[in-house]
Amino acid sequence: MISDKFKELDLFIEYGVPKKQQRQARALVETFGHDPLAINIFHSFYSTLPDATEDCIEKLVLLEQHQGQMLFLVKTTLSSYFYLANNDRAAYGGSEREGLTKEILQFYGFGTQESFEKKFGDLSGLTPYSPDFITSQVCPVCYCLEGEPHEFGCPIEVCPWCDGQLASCDCRFEQLGVTEISSDKELDHFHQLAIKKGRITYDAASQRPAYPTAGDDRTKPQ
Ligand SMILES: [Zn+2]
Ligand SMILES: [Zn+2]
Repeated sequence: MISDKFKELDLFIEYGVPKKQQRQARALVETFGHDPLAINIFHSFYSTLPDATEDCIEKLVLLEQHQGQMLFLVKTTLSSYFYLANNDRAAYGGSEREGLTKEILQFYGFGTQESFEKKFGDLSGLTPYSPDFITSQVCPVCYCLEGEPHEFGCPIEVCPWCDGQLASCDCRFEQLGVTEISSDKELDHFHQLAIKKGRITYDAASQRPAYPTAGDDRTKPQ
């Protein structure tokens, strides 16, 4: 649960951040208190400081998003790191000095380290990640924008055939004429059929689920 992580963070900051920066560290966490992506990054960073030295996150930058997996640059007082984050967890993705692995680069569509550098330069002066990113304008699961199609497979996507949940209704079987889906090829075929039928884009007013950590009732550290 995000609210549990939010509480734990207070303790991690106590032990992981230099005394005189703890107030700054907590203020940034507070700013992003409603954002599971940011909270997961803070939690991952402060629970296992990547260089095993006291340090303080000063800025987050959202670099890329793909299939609900977000690539962040995390600038700290001492260094900069990459983190991969989704709704459930964040994972360390390497230090800026070492660069990203080939797997991560390819996942985000970069053939080489050079093409990544071409897009982001030396990673300085990038716009900080906004506490307003997670608003009603983005799908809370796959982070597509309002009016855009979800990442295929997103549980929020509405089925164009039955108005149910496209990721779990039975229309896939009916449309493909099978009793189970056993290959990516079948899934691709279903994707194509859904496009032909007209995939339903994200509409916050009708599709946004109640979000347990949003709003006024979120748990603040005591
Ligand atoms: Zn979505
Ligand atoms: Zn359906």
